[in-house]
Amino acid sequence: MSHIFLYGSSGTGKSTIGKVLARNLNLPFVDLDHVVESAAGMSVSQIMGQQGETAFRDLETAALKSITAERKSVVALGGGALLREGNRAWAESHGTVVLLSAELTTLLGRLQNESDTRPLLAGNLRGKLTSLLDQRREHYASFAIQCGVDGKTPMQNAEQIQVRLGRFHLHAMGNYDALAANVEQVGDLLQERRLQNPILVTDENVAKFHAKSVMDSLRRAGFSPRILTIPAGEAYKSLETIQKLWHGFLEHGLDRKSTVVALGGGVIGDLTGFAAATYMRGISWICVPTTLLAMVDASLGGKTGFDLPEGKNLIGSFYPPKLVLADPQLLSTLPERELVSGLAEVVKHGIISDSELFDLCARGLKSVKDDLEQIVKRAMAVKIKVIEEDPYERGFRAALNLGHTVGHAVELVSRFRLRHGEAIAIGMAAEAKLAERLTVAGPGLSDTIREVLRKLGLPVQIPQELPRPEIIAAMRVDKKKNAKAIRFALPVAIGKVELVDVTDLEMVLEES
Ligand code: NAD
Repeated sequence: MSHIFLYGSSGTGKSTIGKVLARNLNLPFVDLDHVVESAAGMSVSQIMGQQGETAFRDLETAALKSITAERKSVVALGGGALLREGNRAWAESHGTVVLLSAELTTLLGRLQNESDTRPLLAGNLRGKLTSLLDQRREHYASFAIQCGVDGKTPMQNAEQIQVRLGRFHLHAMGNYDALAANVEQVGDLLQERRLQNPILVTDENVAKFHAKSVMDSLRRAGFSPRILTIPAGEAYKSLETIQKLWHGFLEHGLDRKSTVVALGGGVIGDLTGFAAATYMRGISWICVPTTLLAMVDASLGGKTGFDLPEGKNLIGSFYPPKLVLADPQLLSTLPERELVSGLAEVVKHGIISDSELFDLCARGLKSVKDDLEQIVKRAMAVKIKVIEEDPYERGFRAALNLGHTVGHAVELVSRFRLRHGEAIAIGMAAEAKLAERLTVAGPGLSDTIREVLRKLGLPVQIPQELPRPEIIAAMRVDKKKNAKAIRFALPVAIGKVELVDVTDLEMVLEES
């Protein structure tokens, strides 16, 4: 992981946004002007006034290069700090530069009371700012990552940057980063976290495509990694496989300081996390999800476990990993049906709280495939926001059940012939219709949702052959047998859901 440098004109809010971003990512915050000021023992205005701009730039260059490589930080740079080619090259090789931009009126509004402390703008603020922006227009435009800050709060701007960079930190259950980044960094990321003695757990399908790059990365970072490969599929999400993993860990001599690296879809993540949670009363693990569903859902939230013959996920524990590393490039080898199935959860996240993500999905499957990186990052952000608010599912986390009350029942009654995401798509369509009937949502919402699901290749009708009474019975069993009412997460509008108790389950499945 590298430094984040916030750059751009005075007045874009680099320091304010930087502090929020640093807090969100659990990183130190550095204001480069303050480093210069404390080194010089005087303010930037005084340095400029007494020694001139070149002397200030020399001090700024020294301050930039004094930022240590070890302690990754969020750094707010002065508005001209990267004008020198050497400074730019240094910043770009030690981190990621994010250019913040704003309309002139926004900048003027923010700077009007501060021009005394900004020597390059003192006097005629509008005239000087306009000419400075003109001089630096090409320079600012040449940075690859640009974020417009107009009309957003510092928190919204920080979150926007996090989505662009694919960098998140979870605090609510455990303390760990979730990153969307190249899987070849996995070895260095383990080293940074002082994690030791890794063993890779993966399945036969994933091993063929991706085990080598992970093993190579671990070796490059100085580890001697081992590997355990298990058969693929939900049928193996069992106590028997957990036992095989425990024995495998013992055979490879894993001790309490070892680290398990789960490389695979939700099945591998759930199994490996549980095996790590219970081996020697709990050892470290990290999760490298390889399906879309696992990247945007299963790897986030710390739920681990396995199935019993009586039902799915009946045994498990909350045991968060030390890191989630999601590399969207790994999805290139995922069979299309799995990708499409994962998209149901992405649409769900859009409906819960990100209308822009929903709009990206509305462009259809081809466009989604072309834009998977952005889609993965946005969908991760939604899930992280929900689980950070309610890590142990005591309230709002239930919003993630959108589509799942009907979906789980349909999945079960289909005897798992439907993929999980396909069943959830059917569930979302039915539950959106229910929301309209209960006037929780306005008319037309369910058509909008169905249309997007269809465009992605997902089903929206309960298959004719599945008996409705069985589905209703399955809904009751899924959510506590004796409950008079079942709590649904229903869409109110795109970007908003509400928890609603429903007693008339027949109504849930009425066709139109
Ligand atoms: P999966 O793990 O079975 O993976 C689907 C298939 O894709 C498998 O055959 C796998 O071998 C293959 N595969 C995975 N990545 C691949 C890649 N990059 N290239 C080629 N093939 C690849 O299924 P899933 O949909 O990822 O996960 C479903 C599981 O996740 C279920 O067991 C479910 O209960 C669990 N889940 C857990 C949580 C949680 O919070 N822990 C949340 C949702 C779902």
